[in-house]
Order: sequence, then structure tokens, then C-alpha cells
Amino acid sequence: MDDLGQIAGAAFSDETGAEVPTPSRRHTPTVAAEVLNRMHRGSAPEEILADTILGQYPGGVALVSSFGADSAVLLHMVSRIDPALPVLFLETGMLFPETLAYQRRLAAELGLTDVRLVRPAADDLAAEDPDGRLHGTDPDRCCAIRKTLPLRRALAPFDAWITGRKRAQAETRAGMAVFEPEDGTGRVKVNPLADWDLRRVRAHIEAWDLPRHPLVAKGYPSIGCAPCTTRVRPGEDPRAGRWRGREKIECGIHFDGTRWVRTPPGAAGVVSSFP
Ligand code: SF4
Repeated sequence: MDDLGQIAGAAFSDETGAEVPTPSRRHTPTVAAEVLNRMHRGSAPEEILADTILGQYPGGVALVSSFGADSAVLLHMVSRIDPALPVLFLETGMLFPETLAYQRRLAAELGLTDVRLVRPAADDLAAEDPDGRLHGTDPDRCCAIRKTLPLRRALAPFDAWITGRKRAQAETRAGMAVFEPEDGTGRVKVNPLADWDLRRVRAHIEAWDLPRHPLVAKGYPSIGCAPCTTRVRPGEDPRAGRWRGREKIECGIHFDGTRWVRTPPGAAGVVSSFP
């Protein structure tokens, strides 16, 4: 940890100069998110992360990462603040071998000491997907037992979680706040990269010479499970390779508004990301 750690616990003020009280777990997620959004208006992602991890939710926050195409950015920032932060990695049992190797390499290079592989429940697999083909007949249910339900169980001990979502990813995320109360769970969801686009992601990766997922160079700008991910042609939406040929466009971990809307093909600034 370096000077980023000093941000935690610092006094914050709003745009009028008035001091803003530090939210705590005593507040409801709605109140905490509202105050934190005021406190961090204009803050850099590293400042948001430092205050979340060390100031607001010490011991009570996890980062959820896919170790996908642009995951290195948040993982790198977190490693400079608290390399022991719990990192939840959804190991669905259907990932590319390259993703598993990249996860190990990135965690080792960044010194992350608490990467937790979150796996589906054996009972769910035995009952609903014994031959591993559910993705072909009912991908929503497959994502439920391999991603959504395991993540829900893994997040149960935490008060907040950090995601890599960005406003530029989809129309429905255009108004996404950095701190969001999560319906029905009592948690706060933190999106430190909400303001970032693909250009800034690439610039950070290049500036810090971070390892890239090996499949990016092979035409996969968005990387999920192997059976549900194909290469993307030039000009296509970076997420066009996910569940290609199906109506499905998201796995159900994040729901923005009332429906999922894929960003138009070729839209500028679209960033591939988990999930
Ligand atoms: S992305 Fe495909 S294989 Fe992975 S959990 Fe969802 S449906 Fe199943």
C-alpha cells in the first residue's frame, strides 16, 4: 500500500465545500450509496477503491472479477491498495483453459493473495446439468446454476462488492452511479470504472505494462465460457461473440433497469467486461 491508503478516512466535502459525514454500515445501502456518490463526485477510480476498501467497508468488501479481457485494470488498482482483498472468480467449469492460466498468472504477478474460485454446487450440477450440455438447451438456467447462484452464496458475508461495469458498455448503463444500492441484498455495489471507456482501459494496461488475456489477440474482445463465446469480426459489437445467435446477451448477475439492451454494433467506447 502507498499513499492511496491515506485517502481512506480523509475528510470529504461536497461541491459547496460542506463536510460530508463518512457513511458506515449503520446506514441503509440506499443512504450510504447516496452519500458516497456525493463524496466521490469527480474522484479517480483509485480514490474510490481506497476509500471503499480501507475506509468504508474494511473487511466487508470483495472484488468480483472474470479475469477477462480488461480485468487487469481493476485487479492492478486493488493490488496497490490491498493485495489481500478477497477476489471472487466465477469458475463455472466451462471457461477457456487460457482464462484459468491467465487467472493464475495475473494473481501471481500482482501479488493477490486471496483469489477465491467460486464454483457451482455439485448438487445443482448433478440434478440439472449432469452431462454439461445445459448451455445448449437452457442457457439462462445454466448461467443461474453456474454463475448467479454461486456468486450469491459467495457474496453473502460481504456488505459491498466491486465490479468492472462501465457506463459506455450499454445504453442501460448510461446513468449508472458509482455506488449503487443492491435491491434485496442489503449490499452496496461499487463501480469505480463507471466513467471509463475502452481508450482509458487500454491506456492503463499499456502504462503499467499489464499482462493481457491471451485470447484478446486472437479475436476475443469479450471472454466468457468457452461454449458461449466466439470470435468477433471487425466492426462488430465487442460482445457479439457472447451467446452468438441467441437472444441472450447477459448472464443475469447484473440487471440494469427492466431489460438488457445490447449496445449497437460498432458503438464507440464500448468496453468488454465481466460478466
Ligand atoms: S455462459 Fe454458457 S456455459 Fe457459461 S454458465 Fe452461461 S450458459 Fe452456461
